[in-house]
Amino acid sequence: MKDVVDLVEVFSSIQGEGKYVGCRQLFVRLAGCNLQCDYCDTPHSYVAAEHCRIEQTAGKRDFSNSANPVKVTALALAVNQMLRQPHHSVSLTGGEPLCQAEALQQLAAQINGRVYLETNGTLPQALKQVLPYIDIISMDIKLPKTTGRVLWREHSEFLSLARAKDVFVKLVIEEGMDIRHFDQAVKLIADIGRDILLVLQPVSPLNGCKAIVPEKIIEVHNRALLRLENVRVIPQTHKFIGQL
Ligand code: SF4
Repeated sequence: MKDVVDLVEVFSSIQGEGKYVGCRQLFVRLAGCNLQCDYCDTPHSYVAAEHCRIEQTAGKRDFSNSANPVKVTALALAVNQMLRQPHHSVSLTGGEPLCQAEALQQLAAQINGRVYLETNGTLPQALKQVLPYIDIISMDIKLPKTTGRVLWREHSEFLSLARAKDVFVKLVIEEGMDIRHFDQAVKLIADIGRDILLVLQPVSPLNGCKAIVPEKIIEVHNRALLRLENVRVIPQTHKFIGQL
């Protein structure tokens, strides 16, 4: 069993996306990702750096550096200490945290609180490994334009497994996306469960990605509501209020 993890950072902040927007969370950002999305706002997490940073007091930004990789038991201890300050849940994020499924499983099993997994939803075999230790899943669906890859089969298998937990799907909507691919993503979700929450997240303009115009947001919201019972439009709010 792998008992070390390549880490980017640990810090306490306010969830800025999805169903639990506004909740206080402890973020554990793991290094490594199996994709390269055009709108990625965490490219610094693709490869493990020599050092990671761990906040010492929840929310104080008093980081101290540790060498990578970090022992899972030491990380779990640090996380559980920070949980003395009340948090809604611990967000295991990245990068793509499931790239380190073995270590993630051990970490999740040792956390004294709700465990929230933020994932790109493309590694179903890895999900199987950690699923018993996860409470909430924020799963992305990536349209082919975003990654240059067609990932429908992986997403479908992933969501079918994730359905056993409190899962919602997040889909970043951007100008110039292929509307047929958008419809295909909505159908993929509806085929698994019309009641699954879909959060449409207007892209934050970065790396040359153009903001989606208001009329287009309404149009795609309408299209999704034809197939799904619960579709919400929520932008990334943490960026408005200066949170990490
Ligand atoms: S899956 Fe997430 S971390 Fe990986 S490239 Fe895409 S946006 Fe970035």
